[in-house]
Amino acid sequence: MGVDIYGYLNVRRVECITEPGKWCEQCDHLRLYNLDVFAERARDLPIIEEHAARYGTLVRYGCFVADGRTDSVSMSYSGYNVWRERLCRSVLGILPQILWEDPTRLSLPFAPLINFADNEGTISWTTAARISADFRGSSNGLSHRELFSEHRVGADDAWFLRKYDDLAKVFSQVATSRGVVRFS
Ligand SMILES: [Zn+2]
Repeated sequence: MGVDIYGYLNVRRVECITEPGKWCEQCDHLRLYNLDVFAERARDLPIIEEHAARYGTLVRYGCFVADGRTDSVSMSYSGYNVWRERLCRSVLGILPQILWEDPTRLSLPFAPLINFADNEGTISWTTAARISADFRGSSNGLSHRELFSEHRVGADDAWFLRKYDDLAKVFSQVATSRGVVRFS
């Protein structure tokens, strides 16, 4: 059990859902959705329908097609949460819970990624471009990659940095291709 993070490139809406609350049967369609609380992360998409879903909250969703996808960045749920906490602590100096509890801090580096689902969801290209810039950005004279790299947590250090670079690549590709980053 874990999260697979893909970038899909040049994503366009397909008008195929005819019945509220039901997915279409076209297996080649890309099904994208977000919990309502994260709808802003996919604001470029011509979304979509809303319905009270199995999550007990509104979900925004729709069918799309894409011109291919990036390599997957896959982690266990626990691995991703440790990785995300390290990102938050190393670059922002705070725990992720601080961001989760205070949405007004979304302007901080990486905040739209840290304050996001860890299992399923969609981030479209405008937000992806911002996060991509954060991967390449710096704070207080040190690059975010350096801050992340120097915030050591143990023997798996190379693993953490590799995931940083892999995700930076996914977000960069999505940002320049009108794509989406999909967590599934
Ligand atoms: Zn469809």
